[in-house]
Amino acid sequence: MPGRIVEDSIPQLDIAVIGSGLGGLSAAIALRRAGHSVTIYERYDFGGEVGASLSVASNGSRLLEEWDVDIRAAKPVVLRSLIMHDWSTGEVTNTYDLGDYRARFGTDYNNFHRIDLHNVLKDTATSSSGKGVPCKLEVWHKATGIDPETGRIQFENGKEVTADAVVCADGIRSVSREQIGVKPKFVPSTSCCYRCIIGADKLRELGLEEYLNNNAIEFWGGYGINKIVLSACSDNNVVSCYCFYPAELNDVTEDGWNLSTTAENLVKTFPGLDPKIHKLFTNAEDIKMWRLYNHDEYPFWTNEKCTLLGDAAHPMVPDQSQGACMAIEDAGALGIVFSPKYSRLSVQQRLKLYETTRKERATRVQSASARARTNLSERIGWSSSSDRPGKLTIEEICGYDIHAHIAQLAEDF
Ligand SMILES: Cc1cc2nc3c(=O)[nH]c(=O)nc-3n(C[C@H](O)[C@H](O)[C@H](O)COP(=O)(O)OP(=O)(O)OC[C@H]3O[C@@H](n4cnc5c(N)ncnc54)[C@H](O)[C@@H]3O)c2cc1C
Repeated sequence: MPGRIVEDSIPQLDIAVIGSGLGGLSAAIALRRAGHSVTIYERYDFGGEVGASLSVASNGSRLLEEWDVDIRAAKPVVLRSLIMHDWSTGEVTNTYDLGDYRARFGTDYNNFHRIDLHNVLKDTATSSSGKGVPCKLEVWHKATGIDPETGRIQFENGKEVTADAVVCADGIRSVSREQIGVKPKFVPSTSCCYRCIIGADKLRELGLEEYLNNNAIEFWGGYGINKIVLSACSDNNVVSCYCFYPAELNDVTEDGWNLSTTAENLVKTFPGLDPKIHKLFTNAEDIKMWRLYNHDEYPFWTNEKCTLLGDAAHPMVPDQSQGACMAIEDAGALGIVFSPKYSRLSVQQRLKLYETTRKERATRVQSASARARTNLSERIGWSSSSDRPGKLTIEEICGYDIHAHIAQLAEDF
């Protein structure tokens, strides 16, 4: 088996992670802690994205805790409930109480500002304190070619490296994916999404501070394409809204949060909506658009020494709030299969065990996200296995024991 031998005789592999999004950074942390030497290659420097709320349920938060990530430093809002509002009056029509969540699932249901979490994960991966060897982070390294058999990676800047294993975490538009032989089949969703943020001072000025302090994910609509999803993050200092609307209204084709729009346009897109939310929109900062896509399950994720992770492996629409959580679970699985417990397996076998563990579950969440796009009763918390057998439920997602799952599957390896 390749790699160096360190004092405790665990073979230490050189592992390359392509992409330093939430998925890539999580993988780097998990693999560093498993005793390996990890280098993360990122095509850009950081700083372009303003970001908004991102909820991390216990299936993700449990792994963050296990990796000693300083969750407090990422300024979470601990969610206490899901709230459904009447579209036009804003009246509360339903509440799902998360009150005993920690007792049920072992961690809080954390709502982060995406950038806060990203910064803390980056620090954890590269810090000289913490378990394992600090990961190296190489920015301005855009991967352009990968050879799955040798683990050789070429970069746009002319550099080339060879790794014992390559984790391709380069997002929904992954180039690595095609390099390892996966041709994605996808169609544009009939939905697009605006995202806007607004600060605490402004909300107080407007008399809308309730949205800062409800410690909830709040929904308007959700039966059909139109849906507003509001939540607070960053120690209750920022509120963000994701606002889903029919793609045909402006037919956005560009990916990423690069396209801005005006508050007037945002208001106009949702006629008849709760006047308090229109008021919030009118005063919102940084309004961006996002194009949504539906990807079919990919035939495989792993080819020899390379595997896919996160949105590169299982891009999903955001309606279960589980895309990043699935990427964190992927990272958790990699950390386990590359731990000393499974050192009897080759790199290829470990990557196969990873894929076997992850693909079925992530695909189930991917399709449940697509169903939840236009049907809020499919969203975990609002869903229950008794209203339609087979629905994804909060118990299935948040109560997941990844260690036990891998131990069971490893018996066949
Ligand atoms: C509107 C919206 C709301 C969401 N809300 C939630 C939520 O509440 N909870 C949740 O769990 N998930 C949520 N998600 C999903 C979540 O944001 C994604 O699933 C997650 O960020 C994916 O992380 P990733 O690291 O796989 O990909 P990305 O974040 O896309 O990271 C990919 C990285 O790879 C880099 N890269 C790309 N190509 C190359 C290359 N060739 N070489 C080197 N680097 C490269 C990119 O620059 C980037 O840094 C939401 C998504 C959206 C759109």
